[in-house]
Formats: sequence, structure tokens, C-alpha cells
Amino acid sequence: MNLASRMQNIGTETAFEVGARVAALERDGKKIYKFHIGQPDFPTPDYIKDGARDALDANQTGYTEARGTYAVREACARYGSRLRGVDFTPEQTVVAPGAKPILFGAAFTLLEAGDEAIVPDPGFPIYDSAVRVMGAKSVPLPLLEEKAFNFELDTLQESVTSKTKLLFLNTPQNPTGGVLTDDVLKGVRDLAVDHDFTVLADEVYNSTVYDRPFRSIITYEGMRERTIILDGHSKTYSMPGWRLGYAFMPEDLAKAMTTLAINIYSCPSSIVQEAGRVAVDGPQDEVRAMVAEFKKRREYMVSRLNAIDGVSCVKPQGAFYAFPNVKPVLAKMNWKSNDLERYLLSQGVAVLSGSAFGACGEGYIRFSYATAMSEIEAGMERFEQALDGLKNVQKATA
Ligand code: PLP
Repeated sequence: MNLASRMQNIGTETAFEVGARVAALERDGKKIYKFHIGQPDFPTPDYIKDGARDALDANQTGYTEARGTYAVREACARYGSRLRGVDFTPEQTVVAPGAKPILFGAAFTLLEAGDEAIVPDPGFPIYDSAVRVMGAKSVPLPLLEEKAFNFELDTLQESVTSKTKLLFLNTPQNPTGGVLTDDVLKGVRDLAVDHDFTVLADEVYNSTVYDRPFRSIITYEGMRERTIILDGHSKTYSMPGWRLGYAFMPEDLAKAMTTLAINIYSCPSSIVQEAGRVAVDGPQDEVRAMVAEFKKRREYMVSRLNAIDGVSCVKPQGAFYAFPNVKPVLAKMNWKSNDLERYLLSQGVAVLSGSAFGACGEGYIRFSYATAMSEIEAGMERFEQALDGLKNVQKATA
């Protein structure tokens, strides 16, 4: 089939591709330690599942408003306002089948061909993909290991031009686990206001900030009219397969996103919306329990990684990812991160190459610790053995 030329510009998320390879290996009976996918391993809390059952029993099976029912938008707005200390209305709220359609929607509704959008590097790969497929230019903003994966405000300033329309900001971050400091958020505000660009603040990991309270850029003056706050149920409530996300944005943009939804998917699932409404309205203790468990796993995984020769890992401040620097291991083998990803999978350890998140991710690999502690313990053993195995390969070839 002759694909449209725009398909040459679209990117991907390798977690799904590695996932397909893992599934094939498992079908062949191989044991794989799965650190590649960013999804909580806990079941969705029961009260949320009950919400979906109740919606089914009440025959809520029709189309809804394209941007989500008033009830779910009202509930998300209430929850989001409480969390961030800023008032959002249902008219500013768009609910979608996952956070991803809103990322794509922001690029679709805001970027002309030739415009520029700044994306974190390493960062969630869909930002770059969405920008490029619109014919706009994606400008990478390096996140620095030595700054706990914050960026230099001077570098951001140098990246801004008269064509800059959009900045993707992600905190806590995928893939690094970094959390942007208040100084950085404030500096971004100053630049956004001075240069009049929009900020898409991807806050889908807001529930997992370990050592201090979560802070959103929207709390800074002047950001209300230029920020899209992206949130969702996948990570917070362990609901990635349900597909539910939502965002707060100025009303005119919410209308444009609604038109886009009508064109693409009509509305999010009526049943899932009800589950999502119950999720944000209900008790949040299970979310806190999941985060407490992630915190224990973080301590364990980071100390194991840092005990390995040639591996060093900045302690992640949020999300459920560790992003160790493996440059010494790669240098010895004359490998790229990709080669290590492939080798580790052959040894039963599934991780993602840092380069899948941008050029600045080269030299790193991403581990998700959203997997059971027993798997992390055994998987780290296997990882260490795999790296030891490389020393033998080296000796054999030396
Ligand atoms: N934003 C970031 C930073 C993510 O890591 C992910 C998923 O991995 C998403 C957005 C997409 O979330 P959803 O499953 O709600 O589409």
C-alpha cells in the first residue's frame, strides 16, 4: 500500500514494540523480567470497577458528549482544582480515551507547518512524533543528569524563537523520573509569558512525587491562559488498559479539541467515563498505598543499580522509572544503548534503550519498577549476571 508521505514523520513508542517481542518470547516459554513497560502492576481498585459495573447495569451504553459527560468533567475539574489549588470548570475540561489523544490534539490544534515546538530530550517520544507529523519542527531541550534531569533555563531561552508555539513540559518525567524544581517552573513561566507560547504540562505522574508535594506550573501567575494541563487515570489509578485521560485548557481550545474528538472517536467509552468519575470522586487511599510501594521499590532498585560496576543511577524523584547511566558498559563493548537493550532481552531482562526517548537518552537505559518486588529482586540478579557475562565476552575476544 502507498502510505501518505506524512507517515515518514510519525514516531513510535518502543515500549509497545519491545512488549510484542517479550510476548513472543513468553509464548516460547522463556522467563522475562519485565522492566520495559510503564504501567502499575496493581489491579484497578474495586470501587472503580464497581463504577463501571453500575454504568453497565444502568445501560449507560450510548454515545456521550464528545468531550466527556458533564458529570465526569465536573468530577475531574473538582479533583484537579483541589490537587493544584487552581479552579477549573467543566467547560475547560476535555476527557479523552487516554492522555495520548490530547497530546496529539494539542499539536493538531495549535501547530502550523513550519512552527516550532520544544520537547524534553530524553522525553516521552509521542511529543516529538505529534509535532513532526504536523509538519512542525521539534526542538529538543536537553535534560541533564547532573541536574537531576532538570534543564538549564538559559538553554530553553536560546531555543525559543519567533516560531515557538508550544513547549512540552513533563513533571514527574518519563523516562528519567526527574521532577522539575520550582525555580525551573518559575523560569519557564517568565519565558512563556515574555514570548507568548503555550505550555503543555504533562502531569500524568503527579501522584508519584516521593519527597515533596507535587507542584504544577499553572500555579504561577500568567499561566492560566497559556497552559494545557494533561492528566489521566492510567498511572494514578492503575487503569492503562481502560483508556481514560483528561485535560484542562482555555475554553476556546477545549472547543477545538471537542471538534477533533468528534472527527476521530466521537467520545470516550461511556462505561469507562463512569469508572473514571468514581475514581476521582472516591477515596484516594489505594493510590497512596501504591505510591508507598513504588517508593520502597525505588530505594531497592536504585541501590542495586548503583552497586554495579559501570552503572550509576540518579535517584528518581517521581514516576516509577529509573534511568541509569550505562556509558562505561557501552564504551567497553563499543555498543549503543540499543545494542544493550537487545542483548539484555536475549538474557531475559526487558528494558528500554534511552535513545528511544531522544538523542540525549543515548548512554542510558530505562527500567520501570512498576513490577512486583520479587520480580525486581530476581530481575536485578539476572541483570547483574548479564553484565558479568559481557566481561567474559570481552576477555574471550581480547
Ligand atoms: N504522558 C506520559 C509522560 C506518559 O509516560 C504516558 C504513558 O506512558 C502518557 C502520557 C500516555 O498515557 P495514557 O495511557 O493515558 O494515554
